[in-house]
Amino acid sequence: MASTSKGPSRGTSTGLPPAQAKRDMPQDEADTVIVGAGLSGLTMALALAEAGLSSIIVDRVDPRAAVAGRNDIRTTAISLSSRRLMTVLGAWQAVADGAGPIHDIRVSDSGSSRYLHYDHSTVGDEPMGHIVDNGALKTSLLARLADHGDRVTFVEPGSAAALAVTAGRACLTLEDGRVLSAPLVIAADGRGSRVRALAGIRTTTVDYHQSAVVDTIDHTEDHRNLAHERFLPGGPLALLPLLDRNRSALVWSERTAVAERIAQLDDAGFAAALEERFGDSLGTMRPVGPRAVYPLTLTLAESGIADRVALVGDAFHALHPIAGQGFNVGVRDIAVLAEVLADAARLGLDIGGVPVLRDYQRQRRFDIMTMVASTDGLTRLFSNDIAPVRTARRIGLSVVQQVPMFKRAAIRHAMGTLGTLPRLLRGEPV
Ligand SMILES: Cc1cc2nc3c(=O)[nH]c(=O)nc-3n(C[C@H](O)[C@H](O)[C@H](O)COP(=O)(O)OP(=O)(O)OC[C@H]3O[C@@H](n4cnc5c(N)ncnc54)[C@H](O)[C@@H]3O)c2cc1C
Repeated sequence: MASTSKGPSRGTSTGLPPAQAKRDMPQDEADTVIVGAGLSGLTMALALAEAGLSSIIVDRVDPRAAVAGRNDIRTTAISLSSRRLMTVLGAWQAVADGAGPIHDIRVSDSGSSRYLHYDHSTVGDEPMGHIVDNGALKTSLLARLADHGDRVTFVEPGSAAALAVTAGRACLTLEDGRVLSAPLVIAADGRGSRVRALAGIRTTTVDYHQSAVVDTIDHTEDHRNLAHERFLPGGPLALLPLLDRNRSALVWSERTAVAERIAQLDDAGFAAALEERFGDSLGTMRPVGPRAVYPLTLTLAESGIADRVALVGDAFHALHPIAGQGFNVGVRDIAVLAEVLADAARLGLDIGGVPVLRDYQRQRRFDIMTMVASTDGLTRLFSNDIAPVRTARRIGLSVVQQVPMFKRAAIRHAMGTLGTLPRLLRGEPV
């Protein structure tokens, strides 16, 4: 449902309770303006609210209507560190019962019987991650934001049209002429970010000419909480264990024309094409839909910051889903940004000032470059059928399989627990 009021709606059109006095700020001002109410924008607003900072969240669609309309039918593999953040923000509890734990991951290459097996018990007792329905996670985040009605204001529909910085504030003009202002604007408006363009930040884009077909698959064999990643010449095919042990989420990347053809197949044809590529280790398979196709590109912003602007999530870096890490990397942006902003606010510093934003950029650079390089490298290495490359990657898989140190590092990387972590990713309050 759209909000039609001249000023920002105070959450009512999203079903949120009306905000009490958001301290003494006018309705069009807050500590931050967040553009984008996808997974990143909602998580960002919640992390800031928990730190005592207020936000106005702008989206061109009402997030509740988007969830109700099942605009996003995907599931997301949530890493251990992302789960810790969601737990400390109080958003995990509502999705925990429906989340499918991933205990092990098996990586295989088509045409070879060898595989690489990651076992969670190599590094501890915790599952490597959980598969969560995107709609359920957004619903949980929205419910938690409702608890922070005094710090969170929703504006929807609202589309960013112009951005100006004056007298220590960023002013965002919406297409309908409304003006919102804050010391900092956070772009969480996805891979085609308008705020990023308005801030003059350029991007590097790689078109993989691949698209991902997403569906839900019932299978006669128990998945045993094992996630499969099978590399095929057209792209990787992932089957991710859901809570029901005879049901998995499918993310099947293929050359775009092939993906579009596959997506149009009837259920029997789809199952046959899937079994031909994946084999029968999960028994007989049956798609239970709905089905959708997502074009795949790498989009990387040349900077994560500009004058009184910070980028998070896909607006900063949109990755190929080959490693199921896109949102997890965005969660790491959010954890770091929330921490530097909370610390600055506690010290009475300008939260949109250059030193604070530079600190954010500096802390995020290495992780993002590593993730971009690894997902892009894996996509290119595995999405072809050239004989010497095929041989090289099989040797690579065997080496990682046989060297425990490499395996442990890869598992921790997937769990998001490598390196120095900000407080939220350690499961501590911001
Ligand atoms: C097939 C597939 C499978 C994936 N699987 C995984 C996985 O298993 N694990 C994982 O970690 N990641 C995964 N990802 C990546 C993950 O889905 C994304 O990283 C994540 O959804 C990005 O969220 P976001 O909020 O940053 O952007 P988006 O979801 O794109 O949200 C952007 C929001 O901004 C709004 N918006 C856009 N423009 C404007 C504007 N001008 N004004 C106002 N609002 C605007 C939009 O309406 C939207 O609500 C997958 C991706 C794909 C394609």
